[in-house]
Amino acid sequence: MKSRYSHNQDKKNTYIKWGAGGLLALLLLAGTWLYANGWDVERSFAALKGQQAEETEAPKEEVDVQEPAVEKPEQPVVEKPQEQEPPVEEEPPAEEPKAEEPAAETPAAEEPKAQEPPAAEEPKEEPAEQQPADATTYQDGIKLPAKPTYINNILLANKQHPLPQNYAPGESKEARAAFEAMKKDAQAAGINLNAFSTYREFARQKQLYEGYAAKDGAKAADRYSARPGFSEHQTGLAFDIGEAGQEQHWASASFGATKGGKWVKANAHKYGFILRYPEGAEKITGYMHESWHFRYVGNAAAKEIFAKGITLEEYLGVH
Ligand SMILES: [Zn+2]
Repeated sequence: MKSRYSHNQDKKNTYIKWGAGGLLALLLLAGTWLYANGWDVERSFAALKGQQAEETEAPKEEVDVQEPAVEKPEQPVVEKPQEQEPPVEEEPPAEEPKAEEPAAETPAAEEPKAQEPPAAEEPKEEPAEQQPADATTYQDGIKLPAKPTYINNILLANKQHPLPQNYAPGESKEARAAFEAMKKDAQAAGINLNAFSTYREFARQKQLYEGYAAKDGAKAADRYSARPGFSEHQTGLAFDIGEAGQEQHWASASFGATKGGKWVKANAHKYGFILRYPEGAEKITGYMHESWHFRYVGNAAAKEIFAKGITLEEYLGVH
């Protein structure tokens, strides 16, 4: 049996037990809570930090990765467009004389060109005769120079020696005076000469050439028209000559067979002019025979070139 004291004592002990246990539990809880909380906070901090860092870095990495990825495909694409077509397939000169330079001023001169495309399709028969040094072809990637080419004080303009785009001397007064003197003498022989196309500025030649290229294709256009910067007419020294009243022969091979055509061919050198693109010299001059195209080079050079029966290229030693 338990006494009241012992009963009380038991109660006391119980209280103490509960109190101590509660306190202990409380401390444990608090410690645990603090510990856990502190750990969570740190972790969340760390996690947050880590996340932020990742988020910040992530875009960088993506950008870095994307940039090369984007650039890589672009580079090859840009380079691809370059045409690697070698001008090897140049056709042997056709027999039909082309109206190389249609008179800018007259519609009649442009007609002969429109009829030449068919000739361009037949060259496949003699591919073996092609020569790499053919003056009729344009050098790959050739650019217009800063200055025109003078050799022995004579201006040279052909497919290997282009002119600066801004070279715009206008019609040569010296050449015009020489032509007028020749015209006067021709009149005495019953021939009424007419220079139907002389100076042609770069922009005009560009317009002409692009028109032909659009119509017949660049390859065909190259055979009868000069690319801008390559035309001798830009020098102001080239005169396309015909007879007044005989426009049907202007810029046509038929002019060479007329009385006027024969007279000019036989007498032009006396006035400082040469038949610039003689028959059979296409691979030297770059152009087919043009019975109407004369070039002023001055009396001395003209007489020597005529006497020797050579081309301007040969006279200047560039061929
Ligand atoms: Zn001409």
